[in-house]
Amino acid sequence: FLPNLVASLEQVEQTYIMVKPDGVQRGLVGEIISRFERKGFKLTGLKLFQCPKELAEEHYKDLRAKPFYPKLIDYITSGPVVSMAWEGVGVVASARKLIGSTDPLQAETGTIRGDLAVQTGRNVVHGSDSPENGRRETALWFKEVELCQWTPAQASWLRE
Ligand code: UDP
Ligand code: MG
Repeated sequence: FLPNLVASLEQVEQTYIMVKPDGVQRGLVGEIISRFERKGFKLTGLKLFQCPKELAEEHYKDLRAKPFYPKLIDYITSGPVVSMAWEGVGVVASARKLIGSTDPLQAETGTIRGDLAVQTGRNVVHGSDSPENGRRETALWFKEVELCQWTPAQASWLRE
């Protein structure tokens, strides 16, 4: 009874993960996807996408007032990105841990940014920072029909 109750209280979250244009240009798409895939979360959306300026501005609207904002918009629209939606209990915070700190020089070794990047302005990957933003960003970058509801064959080997 108690374990069932606890399980039913666990929230399945969504997060929006993106290989930024530098990650695509540097041939790191497979490496980055595989880190999330190996962890055991569920992929529900995936596409290579050239981000229009308006979408980049909406995505980063909270950073509008920052001095680096214009360069950030140029960076994100400078080439194709790989957009991903991932789902699972605890996926938002766990994905942020896999990604590492914003500044790759401060990011722990073993994280994506810690292992694969050297500068904040070229930090190869994005991940939503809260469950609320995970839902907002997933809905912003994906149409409903682009998201798949499916049960991975390994599901019962990942969670008891
Ligand atoms: N960024 C930057 N200079 C800064 C801070 C951030 O170019 O001083 C860029 C960087 O690409 C970062 C993105 O803006 O990933 C969004 O910033 P945020 O603080 O949300 O970091 P994140 O959530 O990506 O770790
Ligand atoms: Mg952020």
